[in-house]
Amino acid sequence: MKTVFVVGAGPAGMFAAQKIGQGGHEVIILNRDIKPGGLAEYGIYPTKDKMKIGLRKQFAKVLSLPNVHYFGHVPVSSQSRVSISDLKELGPSAIVFAVGAQGTKKLGLPGEQVSGVYAAKDFVYSYNLLPPFTSRDFSTGKRVAIVGMGNVMVDIARWLLIDAPVKTAEEVVVVARRGPFEAKFDKKEFDYIEEFLDRKAFDEELRRIQPQLSAVGQDVSKLAEETFPVLATPAADHPAGKPRLRFRFLCSPQAIHADAGGRIDRLNVAENVLFERDGSIGCKATEQSADLDVDTMIFAIGDVADPALGLPYNRDSYVINPDQSDPKRAAYELFDPQGGKVLDGMYAVGWARKASDGLVGIARHDAEVGAVHVLKYLETARDSNTNVAQVQNFLERKGLQAVSKADLECLARAEEKQAQKNGVPWFKFAEDNAMLAAIEAEKAKAVTA
Ligand SMILES: Cc1cc2nc3c(=O)[nH]c(=O)nc-3n(C[C@H](O)[C@H](O)[C@H](O)COP(=O)(O)OP(=O)(O)OC[C@H]3O[C@@H](n4cnc5c(N)ncnc54)[C@H](O)[C@@H]3O)c2cc1C
Repeated sequence: MKTVFVVGAGPAGMFAAQKIGQGGHEVIILNRDIKPGGLAEYGIYPTKDKMKIGLRKQFAKVLSLPNVHYFGHVPVSSQSRVSISDLKELGPSAIVFAVGAQGTKKLGLPGEQVSGVYAAKDFVYSYNLLPPFTSRDFSTGKRVAIVGMGNVMVDIARWLLIDAPVKTAEEVVVVARRGPFEAKFDKKEFDYIEEFLDRKAFDEELRRIQPQLSAVGQDVSKLAEETFPVLATPAADHPAGKPRLRFRFLCSPQAIHADAGGRIDRLNVAENVLFERDGSIGCKATEQSADLDVDTMIFAIGDVADPALGLPYNRDSYVINPDQSDPKRAAYELFDPQGGKVLDGMYAVGWARKASDGLVGIARHDAEVGAVHVLKYLETARDSNTNVAQVQNFLERKGLQAVSKADLECLARAEEKQAQKNGVPWFKFAEDNAMLAAIEAEKAKAVTA
C-alpha cells in the first residue's frame, strides 16, 4: 500500500490530494490551519461569497473521498512540534509540499520593523479572520501607503475604503516603482475602487511623469483604453469628505521613519527613471528622493516561500531539481543542493513551488500536473510503513490537538448555527481555541442526542 502525505490544504494541496486519491492511494493531509482552503478561505476577498462557497464545496468533495484523510491544526516546520524529518520517519511513500508562500518578502529598508508597517498577506489574513493574525495589531491610520500595483493592492484598498468595519483611511496612496502602464491589476477588480480615485491629483501625477513615459515610448493618451478607462471621462473635483485614492508612480521605498510613539509617520522614497530592455520596462533609482506623509504602510509586492519549513532553500524559494533532461518532471521535484541529489519522493506544488503565481485555477492546474508526476513515481516506489492510525498516534504523542474531517463538519455546523443566531449570512470563529471549543461542544451534543 502506498500512502502519500500532502502538507498544506490550500487549493494546491486539496487538488493534488484529489488526484492522488483518485489514483487509488491513501492520502494524509497535514494542514497548519484548522480549516482547509488556504488563501481560498483566508485570502480571497471576504465578499466574494460565491467563489468561496464554490471552492468550499469542491474541497468538501475532496475530503469525502474515503482514502483522503485530514489533520488540521498541524503546522510542519523546523520550529514546530512536527518536522519534515518526523514525517519522513513515519515512512510515507511520498510527500507533497503544498504549503503556499508563507514567507515575507523583505526589502531590508531601515525602519521596516516600526509599528503600522505590514505585509499584505498578514493584513489580508487578519480581515479574513485567520488565527493568530486576528489577535495581532493591524491598526490603520488616516494616510495609508500600499506598495505594489497588483490585485492584492486593489483588495486592500477596497477593504480600507469600502468594507472595513472601522474605516480610518482618508487617503490611500498606491506607491509604484514603475508607471501606470505597468499596473498589474485586473480592470474589473479596479472597478470596485475607481470612484475613490482623485481624478485631478491623478491627472497631475500623469503630467508630472509624462516626460519619463514618453522617453520609453509610452503614450499617456492610450492609458484610458489600456488600464484606466476612467480617464475617458472629464476630471471632476473630488467629492468633499470622500476618502481619496491616489497613485505615486516611479518611486521605490527607501526608508521608513517613525514618530515618538514608534509608529510610521513618513516614508522616504527614491525617485526612479524608466528604461526599456528587450521589450520590457524596468526602472532604476536616481539620487533624488521625496517624503510621503503616511501613518500606515502595507507591502503588497508578493510573497516568498517560508524558509522555516525546513526544505533546502535558495534566495526565496525551495530548491527544485535543476535537471534539464526532463524539465517538466524536474520542476516539481525537491532537490538537495548540498548532496547534489533529488529528495527522493518529495515534491512541491502550487505557490510552494512558485510563490504568488496566479489565481486558484493556476494553483489547481499546477497541483494536478505535479500529482501526475507523483503518481508516476508511486508506480515503482516502496510501500509505506505508515497509516492514518499511526499518524494520529504520532500527533497525539506530540501533544497536538489535530482536527479531523468529522471535526470540520462539527465546526461548519457550529458556525452555521452562530450565523443564524446572529442573523447574518455567515459566521467565522476568529480564534483557534474558539473553533476547538465549538467542535467539542458539537461532538458532546451529538453524544447526548
Ligand atoms: C490577497 C489575495 C487575494 C486573492 N484573491 C483571489 C481571487 O479572488 N481569485 C482567485 O482565483 N485567486 C485569488 N488569489 C490567489 C489564490 O488564493 C492562490 O492562487 C491559491 O490560494 C494558491 O494556492 P496554494 O494551495 O498553493 O497556497 P495557499 O492557498 O496559500 O495554501 C497553503 C496551505 O498550506 C498550509 N500551510 C502553510 N504552511 C504550512 C506548514 N508549515 N505546515 C502545514 N501546513 C501549512 C496553509 O494552512 C494553507 O492551508 C488571491 C491571493 C491573495 C494573496
